[in-house]
Amino acid sequence: MARRGFKTWAENTASNYRDKLEIKEVDPLCAWRLADHLKIMVWTPEMIPGLPKKWVLVLKKNPSNWSAATLANVDSPLIILNSSHPKCRQSHDLMHELSHVILAHKPTRVDFYDGGFFLINSYNSELEEEADILARTLLLPRVALVSIKTNKMTQVEAIKKYNVSKELFNMRLNLTGVNKQFRKRG
Ligand SMILES: [Zn+2]
Repeated sequence: MARRGFKTWAENTASNYRDKLEIKEVDPLCAWRLADHLKIMVWTPEMIPGLPKKWVLVLKKNPSNWSAATLANVDSPLIILNSSHPKCRQSHDLMHELSHVILAHKPTRVDFYDGGFFLINSYNSELEEEADILARTLLLPRVALVSIKTNKMTQVEAIKKYNVSKELFNMRLNLTGVNKQFRKRG
């Protein structure tokens, strides 16, 4: 279970970042734009300097094996995203990694490399749950879901506009109670 009040905090955080980026609180928040605002670099495997092409292909040909990795040194995290996944999955994966950074999560496993870089490998399940909640809320805050329903936007239109999967969209509608709220109104 996430901390008490965490969901409300996540909704407020989604609203605050939109405010800072001068986006309406009901509008989509682009994960890449948020990364830029947080001064976090986002790369695809092709962008890793000196990584031989055959390794780029290995990374890209095994899409189910990995989604994102966070490399960091003391002052600047770098997120490497699996660019062979659909854009909505990449957006969700990136938002998840950004959420760990926003929450200042301490990883449980880190591998160190020469040159002061380290690769963050795992977090405990409680931290994963928090990052999941924050990432999903940043992508689809409750106010946005209410606006989608109020404006009678279709599922297809909404998932395209917010760059999210159908599964995430339906999950958020249920978890936030927005589905129930609008069903009652008939
Ligand atoms: Zn995670």
